[in-house]
Amino acid sequence: MNMNRRDAMKTLALGAGALLVPRVSLAQPPAAAPAAAPAAPAAPTGPFTLPPLPYAFDALEPHLDAQTMQIHHDKHHAAYVNNLNKAVAGRPELAKMSVEQLVGALDTLPAEVRVAIRNQGGGHANHSLLWTSLRKDGPAAPGGELAAAIDKAFGSFAAFQDKFNGAAMSVFGSGWAWLSLDRKSGLVVETSANQDSPLTSGRAPLLGLDVWEHAYYLKFQNRRADYVAAFAKVVDWDAVAARYHNAPKG
Ligand code: MN
Repeated sequence: MNMNRRDAMKTLALGAGALLVPRVSLAQPPAAAPAAAPAAPAAPTGPFTLPPLPYAFDALEPHLDAQTMQIHHDKHHAAYVNNLNKAVAGRPELAKMSVEQLVGALDTLPAEVRVAIRNQGGGHANHSLLWTSLRKDGPAAPGGELAAAIDKAFGSFAAFQDKFNGAAMSVFGSGWAWLSLDRKSGLVVETSANQDSPLTSGRAPLLGLDVWEHAYYLKFQNRRADYVAAFAKVVDWDAVAARYHNAPKG
């Protein structure tokens, strides 16, 4: 009886110890959770890397929520980077190009990787641009040469904002709204499907609004208009103006 009880105690102790193990793993960041391939190295190998978010996940609260920012960057953007690395694996001539060069030269790429680079490379390029376009309490509108160019192209900043937001609302399914610079015709508002980039059409993307549901559904659910309005409050117009300044013109 005593032995049995001791064995039972041991079993209980082992059981308690075993129960502690998942608690320890739960204390680790969620990013470590998906343990699909235990033998593989944790860090993905490849030329492309996920750029760190240049501010805290909650930096854009209450307009854009921390949980969405974290999942959007750490999961969605990371997946585009990982899949882009898979697409260029064993192709050093592609691996040495920048993602912007790849997306800007889709027609010249080998047919077998063109779709993957269009989608995954586009996703990487588009999100890299997105994170560096946002800031809380920045200027409400651009100044300087970008302000003048917006006035020239759209009549006023308010008219631009209406057109840009309208474009974001018009995207059916997943895609983006863009303020882009066309070398010949100047500033344009355009939309793209999926992860297609203005770079593929030879235009320089200056500002992109991600209207994939993953960008807003946690906080805004089906209220895309509210998300589009919230986005307008966190655009870093200084960053967009710098992009405009550096873009090839004429
Ligand atoms: Mn996205």
